[in-house]
Amino acid sequence: MANREFDVIIIGGGITGAGTARDCALRGLKTLLVERDDIASGATGRNHGLLHSGARYAVKDAESARECISENKILRKIAANCVEDTGGLFITLPEDEDSGYGLDYQKTFVEACLDAGIQARIISPEEALRMEPSVNPRLIGAVAVPDGSVDPFRLCSANVVDARMHGAEVLTYTFLDSFIIENGAVTGVRLLDRRSGVVSEYRAAVTVNAAGIWGQAVAAKAGISIGMYPAKGALLVFGHRVNNVVINRCRKSADGDILVPGDSVCVIGTTSTKIPFEECDDMRVTPGEVRLLLREGCSLCPSLSSTRILRAYAGVRPLVASDSDPTGRSISRGIVCLDHESRDGVKGLVTITGGKLMTYRLMAEKATDAVCRKLGLDRPCETAVTPLPGSGDGRIEAVSRRFSGKPTAGQKAAAGRHGDLTGRIRFDSPDDGALVCECENVTLAEIRYAVKELGVTNLEDLRRRTRVGMGTCQGSFCIRKAAAALAEALGDPSLADKLAAEYLEERWKGMVPAGWGDTLREMEFMQRVYKTGKPYSYDD
Ligand SMILES: Cc1cc2nc3c(=O)[nH]c(=O)nc-3n(C[C@H](O)[C@H](O)[C@H](O)COP(=O)(O)OP(=O)(O)OC[C@H]3O[C@@H](n4cnc5c(N)ncnc54)[C@H](O)[C@@H]3O)c2cc1C
Repeated sequence: MANREFDVIIIGGGITGAGTARDCALRGLKTLLVERDDIASGATGRNHGLLHSGARYAVKDAESARECISENKILRKIAANCVEDTGGLFITLPEDEDSGYGLDYQKTFVEACLDAGIQARIISPEEALRMEPSVNPRLIGAVAVPDGSVDPFRLCSANVVDARMHGAEVLTYTFLDSFIIENGAVTGVRLLDRRSGVVSEYRAAVTVNAAGIWGQAVAAKAGISIGMYPAKGALLVFGHRVNNVVINRCRKSADGDILVPGDSVCVIGTTSTKIPFEECDDMRVTPGEVRLLLREGCSLCPSLSSTRILRAYAGVRPLVASDSDPTGRSISRGIVCLDHESRDGVKGLVTITGGKLMTYRLMAEKATDAVCRKLGLDRPCETAVTPLPGSGDGRIEAVSRRFSGKPTAGQKAAAGRHGDLTGRIRFDSPDDGALVCECENVTLAEIRYAVKELGVTNLEDLRRRTRVGMGTCQGSFCIRKAAAALAEALGDPSLADKLAAEYLEERWKGMVPAGWGDTLREMEFMQRVYKTGKPYSYDD
């Protein structure tokens, strides 16, 4: 990167940083986005994927509820290929009457939803069962709301792609080492390239701290204190979609009370536990969390008890602290945008945090407004009305014009993932269409596209862009092939073994907490296939 002068540098390539980079680039600012790992490797790639209607917050946090419903409507328009309109149910079970969350609470809940502008409708248990046959048949009440599911990886990637299309530069695997501070103002950053070990200086009039839960540590590098609250949430992924409608429990937010369908699986979550900051980089899901999520999940949907768990994972919510709430459940999910010039006397630095995945666009708008104010610019935000790349007509009929013959399973799956960008995937020769991952129908052509256009450098990056290895076999059958295809696309076939080993370590970590029954059999099988003579450690 010859020219290291920018209008704005954004630290953190989660959804908040990616959205801010897109907004800044769309407003004509010379933008640099910096991420220490891959995009969406923080909370953005470790959440529930619920496109909230806002109903969950309506009773306790009306402001968040209003933000959610407004952004819910916007995302359906601008990010059509990232959103699935599943609808949602809030159900009441007989035992909820005893804990004060019975049908009286349901009335309070619906009133609060309607006040916040959320179309909530009480329906009979019979209608709820027709809408979602897997829901617990013991339910005594149900409310239908406009929930949906959102694919965080696609959403983040689409924002980065659009930022790039509008001139932004993106550095992944690059760590903010320190700020350059001159006369009380942040005037640039020193960045460590984690692959080469080289530290370089980059200058900008404004830097945005969009580092999620790590935002506290980033601000501390400029001598600024932000009290963040690391609330870990654990989730379980089931082997197939048991439900097609989001199922929530109609009560005060608690552990394991939301079941979200997404792609070929469904996910139950979450827990909420305060953890030390040191654990944010290496989270493990405990057996107790697995048991709790499974028990609560079965209350929503009894067939989960006989459904295979594929894996467990956890993320940390970037909440701004409240001394009075030990679990973090009641801390507002509202947006926090801090101008450190007025707050702390440090010019040139803005922090954007709090919020949610699905309110990222509004967060980005607020952060970019703050950047523009600092630069003395008056440029309107257009992200609420400008569709993201891929969100045009992604129906296979529309995108398959470039393909010869009837669309294959691989082409259809690619259209689901990349929407109208699928036309850029080259299915020219017969081997382009060869399936590499058969659970998720990922082809050689899609892998080559992901390397060429989506910044993929290893199998974890590839998983986030294409779902390779995320299906029922968790990579047992495809990772060797995927590693070879990726290494070839990267131009160095000798990398294949290393890529596979790194990936399997990561998969293994998530399978261990759910290691019984079919998942244990899969794990044993995976060990036999990959362990012999290879440098994988399965000692956990
Ligand atoms: C368990 C759980 C469930 C959730 N469920 C939902 C849900 O269903 N719906 C919803 O809308 N929201 C949900 N959320 C909230 C949502 O995931 C987060 O609000 C959102 O992803 C935060 O995005 P972010 O970009 O601010 O942070 P992150 O995604 O964490 O991004 C911050 C990035 O900064 C990078 N970084 C840190 N330090 C540095 C540095 N020094 N240099 C360079 N880069 C750095 C990190 O690597 C990271 O990628 C959930 C969160 C959790 C934890």
